[in-house]
Amino acid sequence: MNIQTDGKTTGPGIQWPDNRRIAVMITFDFDAEFLRESRARSKGTSIGFTDYSRGQYGPHEGLERCLNMLDTFGIRSTFFVPGIVIERYEDCVRKIHERGHEIACHGYAHESVRGITREEEEALLETCEKLIRSITGKNPVGHRGPESIIHPFTPKLLAERGYLYSSSMKDCDWAYQWEENGTRLPLIELPNDITMDDFTYFYFTFSDPAVRAMYTNREVIGNWKDEFDGLAEEGDKIFVLKLHPQMIGRASRIAALGEFIAYMQRHGAWITTCEEAARYVLEYQSQGDRYENNK
Ligand SMILES: [Zn+2]
Repeated sequence: MNIQTDGKTTGPGIQWPDNRRIAVMITFDFDAEFLRESRARSKGTSIGFTDYSRGQYGPHEGLERCLNMLDTFGIRSTFFVPGIVIERYEDCVRKIHERGHEIACHGYAHESVRGITREEEEALLETCEKLIRSITGKNPVGHRGPESIIHPFTPKLLAERGYLYSSSMKDCDWAYQWEENGTRLPLIELPNDITMDDFTYFYFTFSDPAVRAMYTNREVIGNWKDEFDGLAEEGDKIFVLKLHPQMIGRASRIAALGEFIAYMQRHGAWITTCEEAARYVLEYQSQGDRYENNK
């Protein structure tokens, strides 16, 4: 199988606004029970009654703590929300929007889209965009595939539909602009990694014996802090934290996350939404192009 990512970096050398050392995005995948449901389906297993409730901890309890924590630190965030979550938990999603956060596309039923056609993916996007519009009044500009799955045709499809960024790739620590056949697409990739994903550390289920991760808050925040320090030192990197209200939204974890955010704020982080970061990178890239053309 021939795998081509075809991404092109703008990373090394980018300067963040106000001489900030790093661009940080605190993102949330608001998947509710559909994360576990879709994961079990892709593994050929099923989930039990209490596993549903583990996912429901997000909308029932964790989300409010996440929103309060973001207010405390004056941070705007990006929430990737599957369409079906908008249908089932409309009030929650409305609240996310009303409190100033960005809503981005994250599949319809958090389904695995592995192997689907371009037309099928486009139909899914259409459904999800309509649901997001019903909350925000406008089309989403960001996309993250459920289970981080996108296809070689996805970047072009997203660009054609007016998206500004994608956040599914894992190939580097900087934001880059997608290319196709040597032509730049107006689409920025904001890669993330499992090391900065609460799922890696806190996902727990009795139904799937392969996944019973449970780390202490100190271990997790320690990993994130070390990663942040290293990337901030390099000066042109992004740090995309990928969180789930059902996991990070427990009282002790939110408190630990708050301490970490305060640390990043004190150490030169530009903490912003994916949309703002992507707009900045795209503009930075086109200024560089104008400079090159005028030389
Ligand atoms: Zn998800």
